[in-house]
Amino acid sequence: MEILNEIKFSMPSLSVNESAARAAVSSFIIQADPTVEELADIRTAVSEAVTNCIVHGYRNTQGKIEITVRLMPNREIYIKVKDNGCGIPDIKQAMEPLFTTAPEEERSGLGFSVMESFMDRLSVTSKVGRGTTVTMRKRLSIHGS
Ligand code: ATP
Ligand code: MG
Repeated sequence: MEILNEIKFSMPSLSVNESAARAAVSSFIIQADPTVEELADIRTAVSEAVTNCIVHGYRNTQGKIEITVRLMPNREIYIKVKDNGCGIPDIKQAMEPLFTTAPEEERSGLGFSVMESFMDRLSVTSKVGRGTTVTMRKRLSIHGS
């Protein structure tokens, strides 16, 4: 499908970059005139995906996080968050609400559920030892402004 506009950027998996990623994604998406709520949903979903790369994918190590944001026809926003970290052995289990491999760190296992409920579509691909890619899509409403 035709891509109307796109940004791609990458950053090291430092926790300060969680807010940087959120800010970069929202400043790009602003051009599509999302509602305040839509923008908040997208920011939260991006935070969850990036945090997962930092705390799970690159646990105790550091690596690169790559983010792609696209504006697609019909006001669809496409976001891809990719790491080259440890990977997920069982994606289905990882996506279950409340499943976490880090309960001792007060993780609640709700990151994927949040991404799923705040975005229209979520897909996760992963290879153990190779990394994880999360793709999310959200269709913005048509509203007068
Ligand atoms: P919360 O997001 O509520 O703080 P959480 O991160 O454990 O807790 P999810 O975001 O739903 O919960 O992720 C579930 C599990 O999937 C994680 O505990 C982790 O085992 C695995 N996981 C998620 N993202 C990645 C990733 N990028 N690389 C490796 N494992 C991941
Ligand atoms: Mg999480």
